[in-house]
Amino acid sequence: DEVSFQKKEAELAKRLVRRDGTKMSLAQSKKLSQLTADNAQWEDRQLLRSGAVRGTEVQTEFDEEEEHRVILLVHDTKPPFLDGRVVFTKQAEPIMPLKDPTSDMAIISRKGSTLVREIHEKQSSNKSRQRFWELAGSKLGDILGVEKTAEQIDADTAVVGEDGEIDFKEEAKFSQHLKKGEAVSDFAKSKSIAEQRQYLPIFSVREELLQVVRENQVVVVVGETGSGKTTQLTQYLHEDGYTIGGIVGCTQPRRVAAMSVAKRVSEEMDTELGDKVGYAIRFEDVTGPNTIIKYMTDGVLLRETLKDSDLDKYRIVVMDEAHERSLNTDVLFGILKKVVAQRRDFKLIVTSATLNAQKFSNFFGSVPIFHIPGRTFPVNILWSKTPVEDYVEGAVKQAMTIHITSPPGDILIFMTGQDEIEAACYALAERMEQMVSSSKKAVPKLLILPIYSQLPADLQAKIFQKAEDGARKCIVATNIAETSLTVDGIYYVIDTGYGKMKVYNPRMGMDALQVFPVSRAAADQRAGRAGRTGPGTCYRLYTESAYLNEMLPSPVPEIQRTNLGNVVLLLKSLKVENLLDFDFMDPPPQDNILNSMYQLWVLGALNNVGGLTELGWKMVEFPLDPPLAKMLLMGEQLGCLEEVLTIVSMLSVPSVFFRPKDRAEESDAARERFFVPESDHLTLYNVYQQWKQHDYRGDWCNDHFLHVKGLRKAREVRSQLLDILKTLKIPLTSCWPDTDIVRKAICSAYFHNAARLKGVGEYVNCRNGMPCHLHPSSALYGMGCTPEYVVYHELILTTKEYMQCATAVEPQWLAELGPMFFSVKE
Ligand code: ADP
Ligand code: MG
Repeated sequence: DEVSFQKKEAELAKRLVRRDGTKMSLAQSKKLSQLTADNAQWEDRQLLRSGAVRGTEVQTEFDEEEEHRVILLVHDTKPPFLDGRVVFTKQAEPIMPLKDPTSDMAIISRKGSTLVREIHEKQSSNKSRQRFWELAGSKLGDILGVEKTAEQIDADTAVVGEDGEIDFKEEAKFSQHLKKGEAVSDFAKSKSIAEQRQYLPIFSVREELLQVVRENQVVVVVGETGSGKTTQLTQYLHEDGYTIGGIVGCTQPRRVAAMSVAKRVSEEMDTELGDKVGYAIRFEDVTGPNTIIKYMTDGVLLRETLKDSDLDKYRIVVMDEAHERSLNTDVLFGILKKVVAQRRDFKLIVTSATLNAQKFSNFFGSVPIFHIPGRTFPVNILWSKTPVEDYVEGAVKQAMTIHITSPPGDILIFMTGQDEIEAACYALAERMEQMVSSSKKAVPKLLILPIYSQLPADLQAKIFQKAEDGARKCIVATNIAETSLTVDGIYYVIDTGYGKMKVYNPRMGMDALQVFPVSRAAADQRAGRAGRTGPGTCYRLYTESAYLNEMLPSPVPEIQRTNLGNVVLLLKSLKVENLLDFDFMDPPPQDNILNSMYQLWVLGALNNVGGLTELGWKMVEFPLDPPLAKMLLMGEQLGCLEEVLTIVSMLSVPSVFFRPKDRAEESDAARERFFVPESDHLTLYNVYQQWKQHDYRGDWCNDHFLHVKGLRKAREVRSQLLDILKTLKIPLTSCWPDTDIVRKAICSAYFHNAARLKGVGEYVNCRNGMPCHLHPSSALYGMGCTPEYVVYHELILTTKEYMQCATAVEPQWLAELGPMFFSVKE
């Protein structure tokens, strides 16, 4: 009938027209309209992110093959890929390492710990108590005696400098009610290093293992943590002749592990660190002409493939801790597979602690898997009956209970990061102190030892030290103690169930470390730490049902959850034209690649067809994040390389400002004297220049509340970057005293982080409207300088979104340097 016919007509008229003039089916049209309506907000956001200049004509297109995909056509901008179309899809949202965002564990991880907050407050009101836990268990007087030497850290602005060292006072002897246990931590005391080596599980299979390696080009080695893979394998290979005419390399996903293990192996081989045995991490190369065993981060080996794609100097490479699936390890897998195919004389060993072995073996073409027999003891698992709201508090309580009521044996607690670890150590010390002062009986000593990656190396080494007779060690660690570092003598593990993970955060437009429930594989690994020396116990501060239902079976590989800027740049320079074709074990989501390519295009590192530009080729040379490399190279173009070089170096080390809580005002005043009102970057430059004028002196640093080790590190970084500049034949130029040019160079690399003034000390990101604030320690804040526009280095999330390191910029620079984002209004 007429009515329904008209209705149908009208509906048909709603059919959408494709670009080529043809019409979509009604169903498709409806679906797209619905999608676009649902996605209106999402589109706006993508549009801003895509960099469309406001007012740009935008068209939405429906991808008929992949129905979930909506393509935004943004005319005017020409991104480097897919012939001028910006492609974003809903999957551009990150893969969150969460099974269920509404589960108890997910909610608890977002809330964080009340105890940590309480202790933060306490610490800021009670100035004299920092880091005194190191003496916990000793007399109160002793504890207070530490005050004079304790250096204090400002959690907001500084990471612990290596000079965060404090004197270890002789602890007063207390009588203990702990009987001396036959713990194996005494083992090392009584045995020579050679005997210790022979005691390791890997020793019993040394010959068979070497035989398999002789017969195969690639071998996967699986063994329990602590079986001796990292420290022994390289030495066995050396003993078997693999260091003749080449070196044995061993990669580690973690900086700390590379350093600590190299040190241990140099001791076992009785050689100076850096001589026969050395290590290399970014900006730090402790190897020499004699080095035959080299530990390094996977990132370092990855960069070496740029210079020497066949890795000719290596006879054999051990890819250690492959199960961690770090971003660089995953890329190395693809690259080393090629090296194996090209060099018959090259061998590869992949080691893994968990059950990924088959996957690794398949990737290399069904290579043999060698199992090191375990020597593990049963671990009794105890579950929490209800979800633990404050897992830091829960862990502290549990540790105290164990200490007071359980037989000898050390405790290992897993927390998510430095903040929690310090708070837990503080709380433990405080409770020990209360017990010591209220109890008439002697209280057994508890040696509280934190470990996390930013902790200075000498303090890290303390976890391996033997506790005094009768004292119990309590190590409070991040997941670094899951597999990379093994401490003997642990009988009790307390697992909070959480860990930090680097995940792309779309709100901030960058990678951020966030707290997530760990995977079941990680939880089992944690529990296993208790069964190394004898039957142990693992206290899980989560329910069995959470373990079964809320935790992922294994962690999401880093390559699938983070920004790939550096990887894209690197692979492009290795002539991998189409990244989607690269031999990844688990390919990253296509959108991750496209996103990262887009960011590189914005910086000018990629051209419109996705190839490296001249700038891009140069950027690859620097072991820096793309924006920092860009800043450096703009320094060359604008004639202010000298200044920018120093700034980039200072940005590559932890904050050099030292702010002891009990001398906060004094140190703030000292910092203020370095302020350059319009720029934190120039303030950093100023600090470095003045240090240089004072002959790089240490005492000068102390007088001015600066971390001397941090500055020295910056000087080292600077000289290494300078070497690279020299090999590229880029001359140093200076624009001094015209600092506007420096600010312009900074702007050229960070215009994606531009923010506009909105209120007092309050800014909003120009592109995504994210609020961001000047940090109270910023020069701009301190000098009351609130320019209309700033760019910042990064956003840090503490109580608010703070801009870390901000610099005033002129709006016309933004239009000039970031035309894809900004335009000047007529
Ligand atoms: P795996 O790599 O199989 O986990 P490792 O080779 O790291 O095992 O460790 C073997 C043994 O060496 C462990 O018992 C560990 O405690 C010991 N060890 C490793 N590093 C050090 C160190 N820096 N100081 C003392 N002992 C160490
Ligand atoms: Mg290891």
